[in-house]
Amino acid sequence: MTKDIFDLTGRVAIVTGASRGIGETLAKGLAARGATVVVNYHSAADRAAQVVRAIEDAGGRALAIRADVSVEADADRLVAETVAAFGRVDILINNAGIVLPGAAENTPLDDWRRTMAVNLDGVFLMSRAAGRQMIAQRSGSIISVGSMSGRIVNWPFRHAAYNVSKAGVHMLTKALATEWAEHNIRVNAIAPGYIRTELTDEVLREHPDVVANHWAAGAVQNRIGGTEELVGATVYLASDAASFTTGEIITIDGGLTLR
Ligand code: NAP
Repeated sequence: MTKDIFDLTGRVAIVTGASRGIGETLAKGLAARGATVVVNYHSAADRAAQVVRAIEDAGGRALAIRADVSVEADADRLVAETVAAFGRVDILINNAGIVLPGAAENTPLDDWRRTMAVNLDGVFLMSRAAGRQMIAQRSGSIISVGSMSGRIVNWPFRHAAYNVSKAGVHMLTKALATEWAEHNIRVNAIAPGYIRTELTDEVLREHPDVVANHWAAGAVQNRIGGTEELVGATVYLASDAASFTTGEIITIDGGLTLR
């Protein structure tokens, strides 16, 4: 029988911000390929427990761990508790992220700092903590959820801090890929376009015209995406199928950044 190069059996994954949205779907997607998954959450303990139950009901193995990725001690503890429970960390998905919209001239410094703290410090702190473990193991795959917003300026909603934080995630991906190749660690990112989650459903309710005229019409496929459409690339990057892929940002946006 040919080896399944996408198989993740025996691998241990941490998915940050996995209590809902993209993180929840990625956690379930990795578990479906055989990975043991740590479902990180910040405030929604009940939702994280539901994700764990769903993975277990499907025959997988999962554990929920609370941690604020922007807090150094939390990030270190999340990795330490994962190693204590499962012995290693093979895959880190840096998914947790926030967006605090607002025109640049009205953006409070606290909003700017909070965005950077979660979206960029969080990716650095989690990558550093998991990276130390992966260096000791001499293997690992880190995948961050960047954004099309790291490549283009979305319109008409304004969120300069978010855009800058995601551009930072993309460059951090390349920097870590370069530094850690010698330790057999691959570091990549996915850059989604507009994806339907609770985050974007709020906009759909309040501004259906913007979603139709800008978000959907902006993509050459003329629609927004679903969270499950990010699973394939994530499993690919996590698995041996991507053994020669590092420092790459895979854009998954229905062609939104083409024009
Ligand atoms: P979401 O539905 O708002 O979910 C965010 C998740 O992040 C929640 O599980 C939340 O946990 C967690 N989180 C927030 N702050 C955290 C912190 N400090 N520490 C740990 N976890 C934290 O968001 P989403 O739409 O799924 O987006 C997920 C990622 O994809 C983000 O990085 C976002 O920027 C990126 N992205 C989204 C889109 C899109 O269109 N949706 C497009 C491009 C990129 P609790 O609920 O437990 O607090």
